[in-house]
Amino acid sequence: MGRCVGRPASVEFDGPAVLEREERKGDVIGFLHTHPNSDAEPSRRDLRTMRAWVSAFGKPLLCVIEGIDGLAAYRFDDDASDGERLPAVEAFPRGVIIGVDGDGG
Ligand SMILES: [Zn+2]
Repeated sequence: MGRCVGRPASVEFDGPAVLEREERKGDVIGFLHTHPNSDAEPSRRDLRTMRAWVSAFGKPLLCVIEGIDGLAAYRFDDDASDGERLPAVEAFPRGVIIGVDGDGG
């Protein structure tokens, strides 16, 4: 999972390094960023950014947001997606984040 540090109006993000990693290993599954002053809801900028990444990668990606109300994860399936919120996501020590997708059968 790529990491970046969010600010209220901007996100620091090393896009070329992420693309390079994906081309080399194909193991990028999504991105984590923080909303230090707001809820863990994707902003309009997040939606635009995620759609662009999904389009560039040609595969679904996760957007994990740590907001003032906790952690939330959204799955973007294509470049028109509004982000499907995962039913569960939890952070564990050492930077491990577990997200549960689907309805659990
Ligand atoms: Zn955001």
